[in-house]
Amino acid sequence: MAPPADPFEITDDPVPAASEPARRAVASTAHLDGLNDEQRLAVTHQGGPLLVLAGAGTGKTRVLTSRIAHLLITGRARTSQILSVTFTNKAAREMLDRVASLIGGAADGMWLGTFHAIGVRVLRRHAELVGLKSNFTILDTDDQTRLIKQLLQAEGIDDKKWPARVLSGIIQRWKDRALTPDKVSGDEAGEFAGGKAAEIYRQYQERLAEVNAVDFGDLVMHCVTLWQKHPDILEIYHRRFRHILVDEYQDTNVAQYLWLRLLAQGTQDICCVGDDDQSIYGWRGAEVGNILRFEKDFPGATIVRLERNYRSTPHILAAASHLISHNEGRLGKTLWTEMKEGERIAVRGVWDGGEEARGIGEEIEALQRDKHRLSQIAILVRAGFQTREFEERFITMGLPYRVIGGLRFYERQEIRDALAYCRVTVQHDDDLAFERIYNTPRRGLGESALRTLRLIQRTQKISLFEATRRALETDELKGRQRKSLGELIANFERWRSMLDVSSHVKVVETILDESGYTDMLRLDRSPEAEGRLENLRELTTGLQEFDSSLPAFLEHVALLTDMADRSDTDMVSLMTLHAAKGLEFDTVFLPGWEEGVFPNQRALDDKGLAGLEEERRLAYVGLTRARKRAYVSFAANRRIFNQWQAAIPSRFLRELPVGHLAESSDAGLYATYSAGHHGGLRDQSSGFDYENLGSGGARRTRWRDETLDDRRAVEGDKPDLNVGQRVFHQKFGYGRIVAVDGNKLDIEFEKAGPKKVLDSFIEAA
Ligand code: ATP
Ligand code: MG
Repeated sequence: MAPPADPFEITDDPVPAASEPARRAVASTAHLDGLNDEQRLAVTHQGGPLLVLAGAGTGKTRVLTSRIAHLLITGRARTSQILSVTFTNKAAREMLDRVASLIGGAADGMWLGTFHAIGVRVLRRHAELVGLKSNFTILDTDDQTRLIKQLLQAEGIDDKKWPARVLSGIIQRWKDRALTPDKVSGDEAGEFAGGKAAEIYRQYQERLAEVNAVDFGDLVMHCVTLWQKHPDILEIYHRRFRHILVDEYQDTNVAQYLWLRLLAQGTQDICCVGDDDQSIYGWRGAEVGNILRFEKDFPGATIVRLERNYRSTPHILAAASHLISHNEGRLGKTLWTEMKEGERIAVRGVWDGGEEARGIGEEIEALQRDKHRLSQIAILVRAGFQTREFEERFITMGLPYRVIGGLRFYERQEIRDALAYCRVTVQHDDDLAFERIYNTPRRGLGESALRTLRLIQRTQKISLFEATRRALETDELKGRQRKSLGELIANFERWRSMLDVSSHVKVVETILDESGYTDMLRLDRSPEAEGRLENLRELTTGLQEFDSSLPAFLEHVALLTDMADRSDTDMVSLMTLHAAKGLEFDTVFLPGWEEGVFPNQRALDDKGLAGLEEERRLAYVGLTRARKRAYVSFAANRRIFNQWQAAIPSRFLRELPVGHLAESSDAGLYATYSAGHHGGLRDQSSGFDYENLGSGGARRTRWRDETLDDRRAVEGDKPDLNVGQRVFHQKFGYGRIVAVDGNKLDIEFEKAGPKKVLDSFIEAA
């Protein structure tokens, strides 16, 4: 007899049992072929919680997909009975593809996605039980902050002193821990607005319910609440999801962990895979402790460790393993490979970011000539803004590229906004640009002001800018609108007149300052805001490098974006280290290994040792993306805020064992720099002797034009440099030494003014 109808029956199971892959591929074991013993154990393990805890490239994701295939092929499960969670949409798509190729057909009806995507599906079905309607909207961070701001205003809390963004972050962290307003203790409330944060949080949740909306954190937290309060509903999911599989488990936060634990109470058939050394989302509430506690939380759990790495060459593996061994908070593991030696890691010292981008571009061209596919090449940077230099270079070279997990530099919101300001400055009649920014940052100009202006624009057949000017001469605009638009028009006129007398860089800086755009981002304390500010700074760096006028720069950018719109399939990938998790490439370039850039200064300032260890895990993730070739580079000079600064090579370079670095590496060059910084340390663990490594480590490299060789020549036979001496520097020209501090010199340059530089770049004049 059929079971009684379930009021919440989940009906989207389009695959009738008879057509399940299990019935199609009778007892095939092809999906187990080639797996090693431990992998096979994990794939075929039955009943009870299972944790696969293993280093990078050991086949964790492969185990997960093979396990899904195994469940289906052996008939132990139907697609609808499997729930699989991963970290990004891209990873989810790749997993679906892998499963499909293993079972020889699409795995229709399987729930495989991110926590958020699955959370939405659950909540749409039971929205009423958490106080929502099933057609609820999902707010983005902007909406979220606006709502919080309204609540702060209603409470009479000064938004300048206690910015809505900050509270939004606090609330997000509470949600990461599944703390509903009633669970936030007095201690948790903290300093914000004299301890009122928890109260505003309560109001915020009420308001969200009133407007039938959720934010991202709710997508997980509401599920937890739903299942905790309604065991009957949880029961439905227990009946449905007989097998749960989780990738990248080390990066789950507390809410996601509770979510999983509730679901797993059903059959206890939960399989999590992860690597404590790859936990890189601590700043977003990920708790590496979840993975370390697995056995306690899931009694009787089986733990499988995988030690054989199938991805990288021994040199890459050894270097990454050695680097990560500098972290204290880790379980520690051994990795081995049967692969042949392969290429050593190349460490390259370059003069500046431009040279780094050129060098990497040339190297990629060389690989291309050797018939390497571009899709097998990636450049992994620490922060989003770093992609600009490469993008410009690649576009100039005509090298197709894509930015993964983000937008191309000139397509990013803040860059488009800034460019829109520039466009209106240059050409007042650029209506599209004007519309884009006329109320960004907010100036109290809503739709009604725009309607008025559009009417004038249409009837008089003039531009919006001109329409505004005319409206200001009449009484069409009132109060705040009049004031704001009056200021805006006056600003644009002034900025334009500046173009005749000031440098284009100065004009753009002024525009960003006076328009309030920079301040808007500064007050915005969300993690994204910092990245946006960095992008704006990078824009002015780009402008500086472009030695011409603002109109010419705008044209340059317009052409860049046009050229970038190619749809080649074979493209180089550019992305942040965070976005590279789980991916692999034959060749990986890791530029910008300099103190402050990587490790990131903010991470160090905010989190101290914990921050440093998370940065090191990022370095480990970066190196272990490479199958065959890894190139690490650092520049001696970076332009930051339009100032050239001498950069100090990253401490992580010092943690790469010299025995695995290419002969041609600039290890010696690096050692020369680091001697000043680290006081000539000898790193016992890596056998890297910083005191005695002079120019010996630095031999010819394919990557360089003569400047580096010049530098080496100088290093090999360094003249005594004394205060008062006249010297020559390749970038800054002639100058006189004012002070000597280790290997750093203060020099008063004849043209470039006072600068701090490294002695390696100086020649006696
Ligand atoms: P990460 O920690 O980076 O997520 P991972 O542990 O998930 O890595 P996978 O991506 O599953 O590792 O596997 C790494 C590479 O090794 C893939 O190319 C995969 O196909 C290959 N691989 C895994 N196991 C085997 C095996 N038994 N035989 C051959 N190749 C394998
Ligand atoms: Mg993986």
